[in-house]
Amino acid sequence: MKAVQYRRVGHAPEVVDVPVPEPGPGQVLLQVTAAGLCHSDLAVMGWPEEQFPYALPMTLGHEGVGTVAALGAGVTAVTEGEAVAVYGPWGCGRCHPCAEGKENCCPHAAGLGILPPGLGSPGALAEYVLVDSPGHLVPLNGLDPVQAAPLTDAGLTPYHAIRGSLPKLPPGSTAVVIGVGGLGHLAVQLLRALSPARVVALDVSKEKLTLAHDVGAHETLLSDGEAAARIRELTGGTGAEVVLDFVGAETTLAVAAASVAVAGDVTVVGLGGGTLAVGFGGGLPFEVSASFPYWGSRTELMEVLELARQGLVSCHVETFTLEQAPEAYERLHAGEINGRAVILP
Ligand code: NAD
Ligand code: ZN
Repeated sequence: MKAVQYRRVGHAPEVVDVPVPEPGPGQVLLQVTAAGLCHSDLAVMGWPEEQFPYALPMTLGHEGVGTVAALGAGVTAVTEGEAVAVYGPWGCGRCHPCAEGKENCCPHAAGLGILPPGLGSPGALAEYVLVDSPGHLVPLNGLDPVQAAPLTDAGLTPYHAIRGSLPKLPPGSTAVVIGVGGLGHLAVQLLRALSPARVVALDVSKEKLTLAHDVGAHETLLSDGEAAARIRELTGGTGAEVVLDFVGAETTLAVAAASVAVAGDVTVVGLGGGTLAVGFGGGLPFEVSASFPYWGSRTELMEVLELARQGLVSCHVETFTLEQAPEAYERLHAGEINGRAVILP
């Protein structure tokens, strides 16, 4: 089968031929119908050799959807032909967070060598992907695979990030979304679907700001040196109750710190390498909570897929073939993908 692999640190991913994997006991083989490209893949492919944590070559793709193609011994929970989404942050399945479906918070997974598909395990940018347990699969129940694939991360991650802040977003409040890419344009819609807050979206690209407006942002601002002051102005001087940073660079975190209200939330989702200082003199107003969420829980994935079925969120998608995946990554790197790039194997 064809697969898109990261093979050598510092080199572009390649389309190669690899054997179709066979499901072992308890595993499920999916024929991939759609897989999304995430900016985190670019982050991973930017890590230096001495810090690179995964074995190479590695098939990329941590946003995957497919149909059940074959079952390993003992699997009865899914049937061949069923359309499913892959819940990616696999946990040990035995600890307290895992029992609650919060496998994204499993403290044992990494130590046990349990790694998400596309982020250590063979991923979904291939004709077939192996899933370690039917417990990692969520039925699509009629949802379009092209929509569902990006929702497994670009939808789930902002859903998880926003949910914890909903008590701080009553009518009259303001939420800021910094970076309206794959995750950010879904964050705007999720905020609109889940809260009455006014949504202010920031980006460096005018095209992305147009998308932000089209998907429901009340205000769109260029992300520059004036942005924090503009947010203060829009909020009568008090600042925004919730700031979600999908870039996470030094400059955007400075905007977040300068535009959040007293007792607000700053949520850093982007892996841009910046840091936020918490403490007296660090620039944050008193009572602010800062968090650094990772992906989301399995039940939250079910909920995001349900929001999409109800038409309350929809991913702006550009589709590519597997052969075009390296080129799609280049365009993502250049900031030229509006919404999410989705590969159709
Ligand atoms: P993307 O490339 O689709 O979107 C990034 C957006 O940020 C683009 O629209 C870009 O124009 C904009 N941007 C760049 N610099 C900016 C600036 N200075 N100010 C405002 N906007 C700016 O990326 P994505 O796939 O949506 O991922 C977003 C970030 O979230 C990445 O850093 C990714 O690694 C991270 N991520 C984190 C998690 C997690 O669990 N914490 C999960 C998925 C992705
Ligand atoms: Zn991702």
